[in-house]
Amino acid sequence: MTALIDQLKAIVGPGAWKTDPTELQPYLTEWRGLVFGKTPILVAPKSTDEVSEVVRACAAAGVAIVPQGGNTGLCAGAVPDDSGEQVLMSMARLNQIRDVDPLNFSMAAEAGCVLADLQAAARAVDRYFPLSLGAEGSCQIGGNLATNAGGVNVIRYGTARALVLGLEVVLADGTVLDGMRSLRKDTAGYDLKQLFVGSEGTLGIITAATLRLFPDPGETATALLALSKSGDAVRLLANLRASLADRIEAFELVSARIFDLVETYIPGARLPFDETYPWYILIETATASDPELLENALTIAADEALILDAVIAKNTAEADNLWRLRHSISEAERHDGTGLKHDISIPIGNMQEFLARGEALLARLTPEANLLVFGHVGDGNLHYNVTLPREMTPDAERAAGALITAAIYDLVAEMGGSFSAEHGVGSSKRSFLEKYRGGAEIDLMRRLKKALDPQNILNPGKVI
Ligand code: FAD
Ligand code: ZN
Repeated sequence: MTALIDQLKAIVGPGAWKTDPTELQPYLTEWRGLVFGKTPILVAPKSTDEVSEVVRACAAAGVAIVPQGGNTGLCAGAVPDDSGEQVLMSMARLNQIRDVDPLNFSMAAEAGCVLADLQAAARAVDRYFPLSLGAEGSCQIGGNLATNAGGVNVIRYGTARALVLGLEVVLADGTVLDGMRSLRKDTAGYDLKQLFVGSEGTLGIITAATLRLFPDPGETATALLALSKSGDAVRLLANLRASLADRIEAFELVSARIFDLVETYIPGARLPFDETYPWYILIETATASDPELLENALTIAADEALILDAVIAKNTAEADNLWRLRHSISEAERHDGTGLKHDISIPIGNMQEFLARGEALLARLTPEANLLVFGHVGDGNLHYNVTLPREMTPDAERAAGALITAAIYDLVAEMGGSFSAEHGVGSSKRSFLEKYRGGAEIDLMRRLKKALDPQNILNPGKVI
């Protein structure tokens, strides 16, 4: 190991590695502060060639590598295990935007570019890069692609997978796979890039991507709607789609209990209603050029008793304020302490039934537990979180937690859904992949992993 460490230091050069335990601490702690790892060295290569050299050296020594982007992932995929024998590779210095092509509606960027910087680079040429999530100020495009991130604009633009035209990847033996094409149509053989999207660093290290840009939707309209029942959200979405067609850019469900946490823990956060309602929808539409469109659509929905109240943002500041409430949820939950997180998806048509059955299930299993539900209803994706009473002992909490999570995932599976909608598998959900994607599916995943990483040195212990 000592010889390898010297070799890695020489490859990346001074200032681009860390071995001091105190300096390493933040890189070894996952975002929620629940999982900790160990590493002999963090390296931060600044070019694809350096990534390739680091991988080659590690492969020769048979030492594992854990790629890390912004370390905002929620499944403990970006921290090494506690063996102290895995090299941590920060992608942060690989952060050049190589090219922005407004005519081709595309942008070529290195993996370590921060998502918000790419959104701004697109805006600078009157284009739009739609991937957007609460962590956008610190997560990186490489991490977004490695987890196939979702976020709030999937309803119109798809997940990260749909936004990638080309990919550059360093394979487990150090080979650079240059697939930085910017084509919308390309049927020449297997679509290899999609193999790496969502593979969480277990099949290759993403070093750059060509991304799809869109016409700037211009100013959008943002509104917060109040609902009496969560089940109404699905009918409301269908109703609004009838009036607004594909102009809906985001459609986010939030429960009163969640917004209560946000108001408690996030300084200055206030809902714009005088009353408290049981459920809310934050909607954004590409209708600012014709404000009556959204108003009329909401009137129709109100006539059908689907919404109780509505506030339409009058200006950008009010819209930003509404989005701040939504984007602060994970932060507020983190302040509130540990809870059970379930990032689930189900067919939208089953959502209403799922919400009713889920509530009944929890009431039967642990009546004193609380549901904390929010999510991207338009994508059939709910963050179906549960808090247990604070007075529970850690042992009782673990036992109740395991029971509740298993029951929720079983119900999700029964209703045709997935136990991981957008956060991935990492190390924390591996056993569920085994349980719910067993048989031929996991068998093929294992064969792919073996073919691409025969020494098992790319982020071992994650996903499968
Ligand atoms: P990391 O956490 O550093 O890594 C994630 C995984 O990808 C790890 O397995 C890592 O090894 C691998 N990886 C990272 N970079 C590379 C690379 N270049 N090549 C290969 N593998 C790599 N997620 C959503 O999908 N939707 C949301 O709405 C959302 N909201 C969030 C809000 C908050 C406040 C927070 C903290 C997180 C949220 N997330 C959300 C989760 C997280 O932000 C995403 O998973 C994001 O895509 C992770 O990017 P990252 O750069 O932080 O990756
Ligand atoms: Zn989400």
